[in-house]
Amino acid sequence: MKEISILGIKVNDITKSETVDLINKFAEEKDKSHLIVTLGTEMVMAAREDNDIKELINGAEAVCADGVGIVLASKIKKQQIREKAAGVEILEETVRQSAETGKKIFFLGSKPGIAEKAAEKLREKYPGCNIAGTFHGYFKDDEEAKAEIRKASPDIIFIALGFPRQEKWYREYGKELGIPVGIGVGGSFDVISGNIERAPSWMRKLCLEWLFRLIKEPARWKRMLALPKFAIAVIMSK
Ligand code: UDP
Repeated sequence: MKEISILGIKVNDITKSETVDLINKFAEEKDKSHLIVTLGTEMVMAAREDNDIKELINGAEAVCADGVGIVLASKIKKQQIREKAAGVEILEETVRQSAETGKKIFFLGSKPGIAEKAAEKLREKYPGCNIAGTFHGYFKDDEEAKAEIRKASPDIIFIALGFPRQEKWYREYGKELGIPVGIGVGGSFDVISGNIERAPSWMRKLCLEWLFRLIKEPARWKRMLALPKFAIAVIMSK
């Protein structure tokens, strides 16, 4: 797997379908725990300021480029990543294939009811898919969530607790729970359940997903300043 470094953070040149293949392969290795990070520009900026976050990402078994900013940065560095691999799309394809692979999938995170609604939608769309359980992300005690996960004994867990908590959570408990693969997926259950809208495809094609989010959730503007800061840092680092 080709690996490049953007501002000191690891990113793999791995396509969506290669990531799904990798997830299914990792899911066979029951005695191990593999973290997959879906990397966005905000995460790179956070990692520059926090060594624990940097180690968390750089120590992941695979890091895919979840966002046009990361792909553009790779282009600027002349080490172009072939494709953006969005967490939400990786999740959906893994679920679709689970009807054939039989891999058991768990959704952890988001507001009560959201992960379950996302699961229902996907079960309808991909009959026979193997979503073994869901649990919301507002538990008071980790044990509460762990008990639900143990009941389902999944092979693959998608976690939406916000970055970096979701990745840390998998690192802390993945092995103990015997889940060979964990993937942090941010707002993906919100998107699939219809709780938040995804940018229309024409906007996605023009790489304007960020603008769509800004219009829908203006309160995010401060967080989104990470984007221009990221662009400047990448250009300066050249
Ligand atoms: N979330 C959660 N528990 C929390 C905080 C957040 O389950 O204590 C969920 C939230 O509902 C959302 C997801 O984590 O579905 C991603 O949250 P956010 O958009 O804040 O994170 P990011 O965009 O940074 O991944």
